[in-house]
Amino acid sequence: MPSTEREPRTGLKGILSTVGGTPLVELERLMPGFTSRVFAKVERFNPGGSVKDRSALNMVTAKIRSGELVPGRSTVIESSSGNLAIGLAQICGYYGLRLICVVDSRTTRQNTAILRAYGAQVETVTEPDPATGQLLPARLHRVAELVATTPDAYWPDQYANPLNRQAHHTTMREIDQALNGKVDHLLLAAGTSGTLGGCAQYIREHRMNTTVHAVDALGSALFGPPADCTRLVPGHGASVVPRLLRPADADHVIHVGDLDCVVGCRTLIAREAILAGGSSGAVVAALTRLAPTVRPGSNVVIVLPDGGDRYLDTIYDDTWVQHHFGDVTHLWKNPPTTHLTSQLADIAK
Ligand code: PMP
Repeated sequence: MPSTEREPRTGLKGILSTVGGTPLVELERLMPGFTSRVFAKVERFNPGGSVKDRSALNMVTAKIRSGELVPGRSTVIESSSGNLAIGLAQICGYYGLRLICVVDSRTTRQNTAILRAYGAQVETVTEPDPATGQLLPARLHRVAELVATTPDAYWPDQYANPLNRQAHHTTMREIDQALNGKVDHLLLAAGTSGTLGGCAQYIREHRMNTTVHAVDALGSALFGPPADCTRLVPGHGASVVPRLLRPADADHVIHVGDLDCVVGCRTLIAREAILAGGSSGAVVAALTRLAPTVRPGSNVVIVLPDGGDRYLDTIYDDTWVQHHFGDVTHLWKNPPTTHLTSQLADIAK
């Protein structure tokens, strides 16, 4: 199994030295009969539990190094209720930086509790923006107010910050090094497009022969006008086009729906015993669609952005799944077991 050494990054100490260096795990059971190898970059191994730890770390430490952020004096303010907020809360907690997270009424109690546990201040927006009826503009409006009225405030603005993209050079470098440069296909979930942009830039700069597949949500505005449907699964997709997005970073775009995410997640846990988040399910679903076109003998890498613990009330809850999609359990039940024989024989030795 190619795995990446967890080397502490220069200048980073304590828990921050464990951001990145996540394992690349070969998935031999996911796609029985597939004639290429599949590897998963398992980003839940980051200390805050997701790929966004890399972005949070880079967006904060670069500003500390440049002197713009001063621990004990500056305040970081961001509109995020999910993985980025948790990454920021951990990093700000470590450096003694004050953090205000602007969230809305849809934020889960668990995430709010995690943010508070790290010492972040949580501001909840409950009223939608009067002009659009949406909560996101209301959150951004509150961020702007706070930034204007708080001394030494820093708004990372993950949707526009080049440091978010840059953070993911490490993601791709680790994959490149683990597979000695042979990465034929890379499948990534796109939200802010930081992971996509950073990996694509590394691929170009290192002249790698890798086809980049961006996985987007049906109903997202990232790659063209959104299909008219609501999105239940958070993480990938975006309701507005991020300033960070360079569409040409993706050689190919695959749109997946909410049910695809559920089926992808449930298949991944049934066949590989990996409890992964919704966008990981999206990437697995995209791989299933791509597989017939992949040349035999290829190396295919999928990035799994977070773990499934934060999705236990939705994707992994049978009642929630039944409520939204009906009786669909046959779509992932009965994983084939024939492929297990050789592995069981290995264990028995
Ligand atoms: N999956 C999950 C679970 C995420 O939290 C995010 C970030 N919103 C993404 C995918 C998309 O990553 P990026 O923002 O780098 O495009």
